[in-house]
Amino acid sequence: MSPQISSAGKRLNVAVVGSGPAGFYTAEELLSVADATVQVDMLDRLATPWGLVRAGVAPDHPKIKLVSRAYERTATHSMFRFFGNVEVGVDVTHAELARHYHAVVYAVGASTDRRLGIPGEDLPGSHAATDFVGWYNGHPDFADHVFDLSGRRAIVVGNGNVALDVARMLALTPGELAATDTADHALQALAASSVEEIVVLGRRGPAQAAFTSVELRELAELADADIVVDAVDVELDEHSAAFLASDAATTRTRRNVEILRQYAARSQEGKRKRIILRFLMSPLEILGIDGVTAVRVVRNEIALSTGGDLTARPTEQIETIEADLVLRSIGYRGIPIEGLPFDPQRAVFHNEAGRVMDPRTAKPLPGVYVAGWVKRGPSGIIGTNKKCARETVERLLEDAADCRLPEPDATPDELMTHMESRGTKIVTYRGWAAIDTHERGLGESLGRPRVKLVRRDEMLTHALGGEHPLFSVRTT
Ligand code: NAP
Repeated sequence: MSPQISSAGKRLNVAVVGSGPAGFYTAEELLSVADATVQVDMLDRLATPWGLVRAGVAPDHPKIKLVSRAYERTATHSMFRFFGNVEVGVDVTHAELARHYHAVVYAVGASTDRRLGIPGEDLPGSHAATDFVGWYNGHPDFADHVFDLSGRRAIVVGNGNVALDVARMLALTPGELAATDTADHALQALAASSVEEIVVLGRRGPAQAAFTSVELRELAELADADIVVDAVDVELDEHSAAFLASDAATTRTRRNVEILRQYAARSQEGKRKRIILRFLMSPLEILGIDGVTAVRVVRNEIALSTGGDLTARPTEQIETIEADLVLRSIGYRGIPIEGLPFDPQRAVFHNEAGRVMDPRTAKPLPGVYVAGWVKRGPSGIIGTNKKCARETVERLLEDAADCRLPEPDATPDELMTHMESRGTKIVTYRGWAAIDTHERGLGESLGRPRVKLVRRDEMLTHALGGEHPLFSVRTT
């Protein structure tokens, strides 16, 4: 249960930056405070809300996207306003937000990718999987990216759910993709793709894979792709076998190993494409001159570290795998915001349970909080953000109750007026609703959930219409 604000009746203005799951769960928690009036203004650099639910969840996972219905309920609360197309650091600074709100909660996620740090990583044809995800999901930042799918083999580096998402997207047939909200440019490119073999490389073994069992099992349902696992790869080394037999092993790990063993025992059906899951392989170098031609990989073995972790230790066995496309799927990474203490090691803002901390004084920065991936790193499923947001809101409300929140100099409306006078075209929730209606309308006759607008100017045209819906107009 959230603590109650003791100063009942007091109005709190809170800015939540980021409109993905962490942002919306934060808003929901704030709006459920019983004895205080909390106004939540949610800012997003895009004109569209829902964060990775719109731009990250794979298009063939429509059920996962249904979570946005809960966010819609929050967005129509009378004390909630959405201000899209507003980027902190570009349209408004953190210092300005801090002067106009009692508290600012950053729920900005992790918008870039981790690097492998190997030669050839930047060759044409080697891409961050996160870029590929943004591209097929119609994120405006990636609408003009080009992925050359004219080669036969793609290598996906990494063993998380994103690796399985991108492997699946490369393997789905045009028929399977037709009923999804995949961006039109990606639908066309994927339909014309020559990729027949997708090799997914895990640096550790089957018992250490980060993907979840539902996603692993789903690979068997692909209409025109066989799943290939070498029986040798699912023979566990002594450390993994001991781990699997111990209480420390999770149901997910046990299931993953079981499913992979089933895959290894199956014979191929001669489908047009293949997803090959290989384990204990680390890329050493991406080879090519003008573009990717191969990846040099080293075979690893599992070693027990002094801390008790099972790590990948390279052997002398080196192999070269020819490939035309490499998708590096080794995790997302948060980026700093000017004025906020960032931990470059963990790529999160310095924080304690959601309170942003000044590392020099080891004291909280009054009125500044974080939730979601920028607080705890890029892990967990969508629902993980609910608990995470609740913890942050509890700290914020404790600080409010103890009068530790700074008093703003001016009102949020004054800030919005100021931003508009500087030329920021703020998209309200009503503006987003216009985009949403338009996209759904385009999709209806095609039997698709929506046809996404992928360019900022198109989005703004639909959101703002002929007249600019000023922020002060009720947004719901
Ligand atoms: P992730 O789950 O953290 O997986 C990252 C993978 O990259 C791990 O297998 C990791 O191996 C590997 N890796 C890291 N550094 C590497 C290196 N230098 N060389 C080779 N491999 C390396 O990250 P993600 O797949 O980006 O997913 C992010 C989060 O979103 C996860 O919590 C995921 O479950 C979630 N997600 C969920 C869904 C869904 O529910 N359907 C879909 C997409 C994403 P090690 O384990 O050895 O470090």
